[in-house]
Amino acid sequence: MNIILLGPPGSGKGTQAAKISEMYDIPAISTGDMLRESIAAGTELGRQAESFMSIGELVPDEVVINIVRERLKEKDCEKGVILDGFPRSIHQAEELDNILEEMGKRIDVVLNISVEDEEIIRRLSRRRVCSRCHNVYHLDFKPTEKQGVCDACGADVVQRADDNEDTVKHRLEVYRKQSEPLIGYYLKRDVMKDVPGDEPIDKVMETVSHLIEAS
Ligand code: ADP
Ligand code: ADP
Ligand code: ZN
Repeated sequence: MNIILLGPPGSGKGTQAAKISEMYDIPAISTGDMLRESIAAGTELGRQAESFMSIGELVPDEVVINIVRERLKEKDCEKGVILDGFPRSIHQAEELDNILEEMGKRIDVVLNISVEDEEIIRRLSRRRVCSRCHNVYHLDFKPTEKQGVCDACGADVVQRADDNEDTVKHRLEVYRKQSEPLIGYYLKRDVMKDVPGDEPIDKVMETVSHLIEAS
């Protein structure tokens, strides 16, 4: 089962990806998390990516396409994957089609999560992420059990550098211009399903799992 999660920043892709991953025992692949790992590791790729990510621009297509191509070759992806945050441009979607075709695989379902802009700002301004395992929290909607500490691994939870209001607004513009056209791209293929994302996390999960079961 190969699943793509589409939706603006803050729509809940990472949160839902983690739940789907657990339920179906397939890996969640987040290009954002992989890029942040490269930054933390101080690699050349990380240095390149950081200059784009810090201002809320997309990292160049070829960089992320290469990362995803390599990741999809790993053994744990055989049963299927959940792609969170990739593709983010038409070019990335076309390249993903090529990569999957070469591997004899296909996309089974594309879930498009929609959320109002005001709710996105509310979510991202109070989002916290684990500095070690990437678990996602929210100060009000999904707090950690112990303040400032990840429930899963005990590491510190932090605010992402790009989760400030100005950068979030720019990321939303970038989403509208470069990523939203993907909805039309996948609509043509009859794999697109709409997920109303303005509901509580568990309610969204219910919708998501029904749509996956039906696909
Ligand atoms: P994305 O990966 O699309 O950027 P996240 O999964 O990181 O989104 O969610 C953004 C923030 O909103 C996080 O703080 C998360 O805990 C919170 N969140 C996710 N889904 C919901 C929801 N349905 N209702 C309320 N808050 C949510
Ligand atoms: P969010 O879901 O909150 O937008 P992500 O962690 O998915 O956050 O992405 C953070 C940043 O990483 C993006 O603003 C962009 O700079 C970069 N990035 C992640 N995925 C991609 C991608 N597929 N193409 C280009 N840039 C990406
Ligand atoms: Zn953790």
